[in-house]
Amino acid sequence: METTLILLKPDTVERGFIGQVITRLEQKGLKISGLKMMQLSDELVTEHYDFLADKPFFPNIKAYMMRTPVVAIAASGANAIATVRMLTGATNPQEALPGSIRGDFGLTIDGNIIHASDSAETAEIELKRFFGGSDVFEYSRGFDGVL
Ligand code: GDP
Repeated sequence: METTLILLKPDTVERGFIGQVITRLEQKGLKISGLKMMQLSDELVTEHYDFLADKPFFPNIKAYMMRTPVVAIAASGANAIATVRMLTGATNPQEALPGSIRGDFGLTIDGNIIHASDSAETAEIELKRFFGGSDVFEYSRGFDGVL
């Protein structure tokens, strides 16, 4: 079983899609292991998107990610990291397939709804970054091991 880090970005919070996006995760069978709303600091966004620091759109991303609180989610399940990336869809919602979260809820890359860890290494770092090693719960569901 893997655990991945998801952020529901400010456009999702503003547009009232928190519940619908979480439903997509739950209906796929992923377990919500951690869930919290957070106002991101300049430092945290800079660290999280460090690899984009030299891009011209970096200041816009920073302003966007701090515009409202975000919802941080730890989601667990078999192959959770790749599964959530598949549900998420392409970075640019204009290229994301219908049926994917970005394909169904996003219109432009400026607000692409969701962040999801892209590898096991990244997930470990990002879970620590947003959950600080706590507030991620291990619990059993009746059907765990069956799905
Ligand atoms: P992701 O893993 O699919 O989120 O994509 P990346 O890690 O490559 O990029 C991180 C985030 O930066 C994306 O989710 C977008 O919010 C933003 N981003 C990436 N490329 C662009 C771009 O060309 N223009 C703008 N405005 N934002 C971008």
